Amino acid sequence: MTAAPFASRLLDALSREVALVCDPGGTITWADARAESILGAQKGKRLRGLAAQGTEEKVDRLLLQACEERVEGWELILCAGGSKPTTFAFRAQPYEGQVVMVGSLVPEDYGAALSQVSSTLSELSALHRETERQQRELQRRADELQRLNRELEESNRGVRSLHAALDEKAESLQRAAEVKGRVVANVSHEFRTPLHSILGLSKVLLNPLNGPLTAEQEKQVQFVRTSAEALYDLVNDLLDLSKIEAGKAVLRPNRFVAGDFVSAMRGMMRPLLPPESPVEIIFPESPSTVELETDEAKLSQVLRNLVSNAVKFTEQGTIAIQVRQGPRDTVCFSVKDTGIGIPPEYQERIFEEFIQVETPLHKKVKGTGLGLPLARRLTEMLGGTLTVQSVEGKGSTFTVTIPRVHPEVKEMVGLAERGQHLDPARAPVLVLEDDRQTLFLYEKYLERSGFQVIAVRTVEEARRTVQRVRPAAMVLDVMLEGETSWGFLAEMKSQEDTRDIPILVVTITDREQKARALGADEFWLKPVEPDRLRRKLDELAHRGPVERILIIDDDEVHRYLLKQLLKDTHYVLMEASGGRDGVQLARDKAPHLIFLDFLLQDMTAFDVLDQLKADPRTREIPVILHTSQELKENERSRLAQETAAILAKHTLSREVAIARIRDALAKAGLGTRIEEREVRRG
Ligand code: ADP
Repeated sequence: MTAAPFASRLLDALSREVALVCDPGGTITWADARAESILGAQKGKRLRGLAAQGTEEKVDRLLLQACEERVEGWELILCAGGSKPTTFAFRAQPYEGQVVMVGSLVPEDYGAALSQVSSTLSELSALHRETERQQRELQRRADELQRLNRELEESNRGVRSLHAALDEKAESLQRAAEVKGRVVANVSHEFRTPLHSILGLSKVLLNPLNGPLTAEQEKQVQFVRTSAEALYDLVNDLLDLSKIEAGKAVLRPNRFVAGDFVSAMRGMMRPLLPPESPVEIIFPESPSTVELETDEAKLSQVLRNLVSNAVKFTEQGTIAIQVRQGPRDTVCFSVKDTGIGIPPEYQERIFEEFIQVETPLHKKVKGTGLGLPLARRLTEMLGGTLTVQSVEGKGSTFTVTIPRVHPEVKEMVGLAERGQHLDPARAPVLVLEDDRQTLFLYEKYLERSGFQVIAVRTVEEARRTVQRVRPAAMVLDVMLEGETSWGFLAEMKSQEDTRDIPILVVTITDREQKARALGADEFWLKPVEPDRLRRKLDELAHRGPVERILIIDDDEVHRYLLKQLLKDTHYVLMEASGGRDGVQLARDKAPHLIFLDFLLQDMTAFDVLDQLKADPRTREIPVILHTSQELKENERSRLAQETAAILAKHTLSREVAIARIRDALAKAGLGTRIEEREVRRG
């Protein structure tokens, strides 16, 4: 095969062109080989016959035009011999009365691609429209968001300024309350002094022994005196109220019998009525034997107030004072009068400050409008209620219902009792504080700690407690009722056996220098923060490493009993059933303390003690002697020197055992040793 025909065949295969010549009537006069093979175009055939159905006319128009001029890019769809329609782009031109045509095969997928492109285009434009719509929507939402943001910011600003205004208001209210409190307290005191003078001087003037007054003068001085008395009452009420409001009123509960209390009142009430008064004050016939424990002075103040009101608003009839037991261990005191009564709409309001009933009858009587509010606050301080029942024109009954034993007294008793029973699992902390509420707080703060609060309210109580218990630490309030604890602090820090008990001084005024000078280990200003307190006590009381105790006793039952006594404590117990084993164990295991039985089978307690003292490893270990028999005097005195304590087996209690162990450990300076170890380790 030569190159030329091969190349021509290859070109032929690659070519996408067909060539034809037609006469003006559309009959094919010449066709190239590819036109023949692809289209079946043969000389003599009509070009129209090759056109796909429905496109014949386009062939005619091409021919018509191409007879006249050159035509380019004329697309004809031809299908030869029923084959599938194929699109050709024709160029044609006239030549010597005929039409010469060259057609280029348009790729088969061109049409499809075109339509795909067009559909893609339309999809794209739809997408574009959708995107535009979404963009518009987004923009709208962004605008909306911005508007909302602006609104939010505005209302935020509003809230902030409201807050600031409220803060300011609260602050100024607080300031006002403080100023009011201070003014009332100070001014009341200032008022009292000159009032005392006025009252005293008017009394002097009215005394006939100091020279006679004219009737007119006497009347005038009497007026001065009555006005001064009224002012004095007002000042006292104001002072009491401001004290209660400032939380400064102190509760002083005492024990008393209701009957005696009412008898004492009888004496106080009698002068309230003029000698010929048509009003009678009636007291209970049989005196009540109920025993109360509450603030008697405050209760008396409340009742005096109620009776003096009853006297003021009762023109005739009776004022009856009654006492009875109420529900749930309460006592009810009532003052019942046959006076003018109180309109229903005033029956609650009269307990507000400065409210007085505005009827002509009520207005005839002068008053301050402070008596009942004060009486109610005082009753509330006693944990009770003050109520009134009244019928206008018939009379009123005021009833005070208070717990027989003041709740704080009950709680205090509980607190003191809890302090009596030492919890062996917790280290006792003596808290000296006169305020009951604060004591409860301490107890609450240390509730779930390893410390037990031993609450005391006076120095004397603290002294007694220290004799009974050796506290792991002490918390001292300085300013107590009627005394300070400086002396006690100095005492504790100067005595040999209490010097090393850590003391935390907590008070309201900065006296750190003095506290430190007297030996306080720590000084804090109130209020105390619970976590800080626990941490500080942990640090001060040197609680940390466990203490090992060795029990040397050949009686298995006694060892068992001692282990039972010390069950649930933090001590780790070891046992030896004989003196020799015991001494060996002491050398090997270095216990912090030894419980030694006096009567051992293999050696005497004295031998054990001698061996322990002879060995530097065991010399310092404190020993508690544990005996079930009476010791002879010489034995006792020798043992007293060599042991930390001597305990009788048959009377030994858990508390005593633990207290002695603690004492012995403290005396042996275990706290210090552990601390040193910690420091060295650190
Ligand atoms: P004061 O008696 O000084 O005005 P109180 O606070 O004690 O102030 O009493 C407030 C008001 O309650 C009295 O002004 C009076 O109007 C009314 N009130 C108090 N006790 C009685 C009573 N026993 N009978 C009638 N009204 C009374």
